[in-house]
Amino acid sequence: MKDSNFLKEHNAKSIWHPMAHPADSQANPPTIVTRAQGVRITDLDGHETVDAVGGLWNVNLGFSCQPVKDAIAGQLDTLPYYSTFRGTSNDQVIQLAEELRRFFAPDGLTRAFFTSGGSDSVETALRLARQYHKIRGEAGRTKFLSLKKGYHGTHMGGASVNGNANFRTQYEPLLPGCHHIPAPYTYRNPFNESDPARLAQLCLQALEDEIAFQGSGTIAAFIMEPILGAGGVIPPHESFMPGVRDICTKHGILLIADEVITAFGRTGSWSGSRHWGVQPDLMATAKAITNGYFPFGAVMITSSVAEVFENDRTGAAAIGHGYTYSGHPVGAAAALACLAETEKLNVPENAATRGTQLHRGLLDLRDKHSLIGDVRGGHGLMCALELVSDRESKTPIDKATIATVQEVAYQSGAMVRVSGPNIILSPPLILTEEDADVILGALDDGLTAAA
Ligand code: PLP
Repeated sequence: MKDSNFLKEHNAKSIWHPMAHPADSQANPPTIVTRAQGVRITDLDGHETVDAVGGLWNVNLGFSCQPVKDAIAGQLDTLPYYSTFRGTSNDQVIQLAEELRRFFAPDGLTRAFFTSGGSDSVETALRLARQYHKIRGEAGRTKFLSLKKGYHGTHMGGASVNGNANFRTQYEPLLPGCHHIPAPYTYRNPFNESDPARLAQLCLQALEDEIAFQGSGTIAAFIMEPILGAGGVIPPHESFMPGVRDICTKHGILLIADEVITAFGRTGSWSGSRHWGVQPDLMATAKAITNGYFPFGAVMITSSVAEVFENDRTGAAAIGHGYTYSGHPVGAAAALACLAETEKLNVPENAATRGTQLHRGLLDLRDKHSLIGDVRGGHGLMCALELVSDRESKTPIDKATIATVQEVAYQSGAMVRVSGPNIILSPPLILTEEDADVILGALDDGLTAAA
């Protein structure tokens, strides 16, 4: 490895980081991570911390998952690449599709289309939704609805349904016909409603109103995260996603669950949709499908949507879409090993138990630190603290103060993620009770230092 000064200097000189100003790595040099084991990462200076970010919501099984590493290494030896475009397939991707069918058949999701990541999966789901309606003779259904504060990746389609101006403004004009409804975000919402159940009903009514305004026959799909992730970990009331399902069904609109974060155990269930007892029509996945060790994703499709494509005899269902790395055998081998480990270790159950511990600990921290305006979590290992400079007025915390919380927490043993006024926690799902305590202790230190 090159020496520390070389790496720091050349990072600043040569890399543009995603989601950062290009000048930022000069002013705020990133933490350069050089090693990781279990749930812990080590930086260039040898400092070790619990990774409460879990890579980027994806390293669910931690950094030392040997079966996944072995699967990747073994597959590189046997068949490092072959395409799944028309005319060829590979043994790994076929086995993976069968395993995914086994896990998600209870949700009606029986077919898979493979991708190279979350943004690809979202784009695929949006395109398939439009094509579905065209095949059925409803070519006028082209619009998409989604939630404000939702995050659906960075491709043009995904950016168009994103509900956060930061990911949109500089890239406009985006796709026409994408409209957003208020998120069931209890702490701040346009209705000033603090009761989660009543807020869910108001947001559902807003969805009905928007459908009526646009014309239900113009809408292809509604896309949502079962729990908003990047937007600040916003779990809706339990009535919300079932309510969305009913409205979509009533109006012939497809429901796309963006489960890039929530699938494979993060919420304490195998998927966020199952967590809420909902069957989406399409489900976009990526991230933890390979534990972050290989870029990969899958869109799962229900039998009823699939049959519209499969029964077409006009040619309209030919899929003019796909990626060079769709069904990559190394990614598929990694995903097979991940599914096996997730099942063997009963990872969703641990996520639920440790998620409850972490959420309770954060609620205790709120009693102690007035910087905490809102605590969100309680559905597996995805939690957030929304920080404010004044609880009464809910004035969002300034950048410097939240940076102090993050920096001191890091020095005290936990890497946490900052997104706007939120501290976001999405640690590996193999977290132990002691690891969760380290995260809570580090946050306590960070909040004390920033007060
Ligand atoms: N959808 C959701 C809900 C996500 O959280 C993300 C990434 O965080 C994406 C899509 C995009 O995934 P990727 O960054 O792998 O393209």
